[in-house]
Amino acid sequence: MAMGVRSGAGWPWPGLRQALGCLVCVALAAPVWAQTRPQTPVEQGATLPVADGFALESGGDVSRLIFDLTSPVAAKAHVLADPDRVIVDLPEVNFQIDPALGLPAAGKNAVRNPPRGAKAPGLDGLVSSFRFGLVAPAKSRIVIDLAGPAKILRAASEPGAGGRGARFVIELAKTDRVSFLAAASAAQAPVAVVQSLAAPATPVESALPMVVLDAGHGGIDTGALGAAGALEKDIVFEFAKALAARLEAGRKVRVSMTRDSDIFISLGERVRRARAAGASLFISIHADTLTDDRSVSGATVYTASEKASDAEAARVAEKENQADLAAGLDGREDQSEVSDILVDLTRRETRAYSNVFARTLVGYWKEVGLLNKNPHRFAGFRVLRAHDVPSVLLEVGYLSSDKDLASLTAPVWRDKATATVARAVEGFFQARGAGEGRAAAGPDPFGTLAPPRSAAGRP
Ligand SMILES: [Zn+2]
Repeated sequence: MAMGVRSGAGWPWPGLRQALGCLVCVALAAPVWAQTRPQTPVEQGATLPVADGFALESGGDVSRLIFDLTSPVAAKAHVLADPDRVIVDLPEVNFQIDPALGLPAAGKNAVRNPPRGAKAPGLDGLVSSFRFGLVAPAKSRIVIDLAGPAKILRAASEPGAGGRGARFVIELAKTDRVSFLAAASAAQAPVAVVQSLAAPATPVESALPMVVLDAGHGGIDTGALGAAGALEKDIVFEFAKALAARLEAGRKVRVSMTRDSDIFISLGERVRRARAAGASLFISIHADTLTDDRSVSGATVYTASEKASDAEAARVAEKENQADLAAGLDGREDQSEVSDILVDLTRRETRAYSNVFARTLVGYWKEVGLLNKNPHRFAGFRVLRAHDVPSVLLEVGYLSSDKDLASLTAPVWRDKATATVARAVEGFFQARGAGEGRAAAGPDPFGTLAPPRSAAGRP
């Protein structure tokens, strides 16, 4: 075994700790960001175990992640390959820990005494990065991205220091690639559990078109990180809620949201919810970040395409498509594509509508906000793959831009921006319904083509 560590009960921990060396120790007494985090009703309950401290210890071929808890929890852990991760499933835990600690770069900055000669990128030892949060109602998860093949020595609670509370310890040891792959294939990821949670609502027939708003990320998947603890998942959720309220008040469309709380939903499930709701338009809302250029700002509207319009669009799609992996789902989920001539025809029509809406939205957005220098781009976004629902992905701005971040977190700006998007949505359906008022040259997306979707023929 690695390091000649004997299996069996009880590590000689104090001695081993000394031997390993405590390279990274972070304890958070009262994190500032925690006060700004929106609390869900469940989080406000007094009975949930609270995680309020964290330490990462590495040395030799062993790494330990230690979460200080108010009470012990039971856990199940397994490994997943490609990308290589450790998944630890827990009952709901109220994580009062800065998510930035789990990121390669930000996590290092948060560490008071960074390990000398630590490999970049990565946090330390076997741990490249990690995340934690809700993955389904009442289910929390910790996902650890591995820097190399590792085996789980244990993932369990033990009494806390001085007998107070508990420590939840995940202990990993280096292993060889073959053993890792064998362990990964033996552990079937519990994807089905997450998938089955969303019983699709029965579509209600109505004269009003259905708009499905998709607030990106959620739960364990925080999305991009901005300054001062700003999280993409929170910013886009606030935006989506405000937009939903606007559209409902306008009474020209019906509205449904893919998530109504801070919870993880897989990309495939977002698409399924849109189709189950009978969506005539799907808008996925995100906020980008660029680590190497803080001057880039403004909104961008993306539509689906096999080939990316440019390298930047390809980068954004690749990043947004990582959401399922971030939550510890098997990356193979939803990879299958239906190949069918009718599906292809419908897809082509749908994309025409998507592009018209994207251009409409860019036109309206110009009136109120900054636009990226190339505001309509295309790439292979997995969340835009419904072949029969016109879909766009709106990146409302860059969390890495001070200018954008100030706007995105200001209620006044949000009011103005969501009012504008609502007018774009209403304008789109008005033009589509009237079959006129199309300024765009080229093939007429509102003409003789049937609407790209109908309730009939839905699975
Ligand atoms: Zn995003």
